[in-house]
Amino acid sequence: MHDLVIVGAGAAGLAAARTAMDRGLDVRVLEASHRIGGRAYSEDILPGVAFDLGCHWLHSASINPLVDIAGRLGVEYQRTASWTPRVHLGSRWANDAEYADFLSFWEACNQSVDACRAARHDVAVADVIERNRPWTAWFDYWTSLMTSSDSDRVSAGDMASYRDTGENWPVVGGYGNLVHRLGAGLPVTLNAAVERIRLTPSGVRVDSAAGRLEARTVLVTVSTGILGSEHIVFDPPLPDDKRQAIAAVPLGNHNRIAIVFDGNPFGVDPSTSVIDLEGDVPMLLHLRPYGHAYVVGVTGGRFADWLERAGTRAAREHLLDRLVRIFGAAVVQAARGGIVTAWGSDPWTLGAYSTCLPGQAGQRTVLARPVDDRLYFAGEATSSDAFATCHGAYRTGVDTATLIADALAA
Ligand SMILES: Cc1cc2nc3c(=O)[nH]c(=O)nc-3n(C[C@H](O)[C@H](O)[C@H](O)COP(=O)(O)OP(=O)(O)OC[C@H]3O[C@@H](n4cnc5c(N)ncnc54)[C@H](O)[C@@H]3O)c2cc1C
Repeated sequence: MHDLVIVGAGAAGLAAARTAMDRGLDVRVLEASHRIGGRAYSEDILPGVAFDLGCHWLHSASINPLVDIAGRLGVEYQRTASWTPRVHLGSRWANDAEYADFLSFWEACNQSVDACRAARHDVAVADVIERNRPWTAWFDYWTSLMTSSDSDRVSAGDMASYRDTGENWPVVGGYGNLVHRLGAGLPVTLNAAVERIRLTPSGVRVDSAAGRLEARTVLVTVSTGILGSEHIVFDPPLPDDKRQAIAAVPLGNHNRIAIVFDGNPFGVDPSTSVIDLEGDVPMLLHLRPYGHAYVVGVTGGRFADWLERAGTRAAREHLLDRLVRIFGAAVVQAARGGIVTAWGSDPWTLGAYSTCLPGQAGQRTVLARPVDDRLYFAGEATSSDAFATCHGAYRTGVDTATLIADALAA
């Protein structure tokens, strides 16, 4: 009989395991995948150059506990608080007046979303921004990057609840590598997909691909995509309000398309960001991040789903077409390998990160609530003000493990 079984070894599960063990609990972590980290995952895109397939930015850095941890564990990050993108209008760069108009529209949209929260008017983000402006498609796209869902599927009240200090610091050494180090020495069993969680008179029984564990409590940290897929059977079934909350806080999609290039066919400075406003779907491009010879294009929401289904080659061609239009045909000759993510079809997340549907702000609290003092929930979707982030997931892991340790001690 263990004190606590944790389902999932992402940021939330690893943080919970460390916290519970520091409190003296006997803990086991069951992870479905062949690796720990979940949506925090780095691979080398070039020898010795980390590329994050999932989280990369230490958002709200001054209130982000992972900043200190990165320093302590020696994972490199940059203290850059702001960025100045260049805006490309399809065939030319925006001039100063256009750029100023673009920024003021962006600011006005953010204010409209914030006003919804203040007025408790929980409608779709799409319904509170001007639809007929030249920059509307940009704000829709930006929303899809922030929330991984399209603006008609995003609750304005939820989006405005996010606590944003405006400091977004990149983890140059790989946010995935940082989270991986959080797992050092923790009792994680890999390839152990949990299939059934049964509440028993004395605690819980957890059946996984690696066998059966009995414990006093269980903490589930999987995404709402996995919870909604009913891959894990709960016995007895979860209460109705919990099931409604899972459905009300779904995952969207967000992918990165990275292409390595020989040299610098773009003639731009390191870490140049370009907002490409061609067509109905804009795209944010990061060129030569930290001086390395690659480019990243990011997709969100339905467009990310569509391009993911079209496949890796189509995604690369899409990004190359944009680069050729902006920088000329020479970029094609210089293109080499790269990495293309596919979070929508990742079997252990089934999407990127969570957002509340319009009218459903507040459901994160229901999602976070324990059942019967034995079945607990954590993970990014259960955070009320740092959802969709790694530090939000981490904090829910620490807080929920503390709650469990207090309850068991009592
Ligand atoms: C493309 C992308 C970009 C992002 N960018 C940023 C960013 O820049 N900054 C930021 O802060 N955040 C970012 N995020 C969000 C951040 O990565 C996540 O919020 C965070 O990593 C989620 O951690 P978690 O522990 O809640 O969930 P997860 O990381 O999903 O962990 C859950 C774990 O449960 C496992 N699991 C699933 N099913 C089972 C099962 N049946 N049995 C056992 N284990 C199971 C999974 O394999 C996984 O390891 C990004 C995410 C994506 C996808």
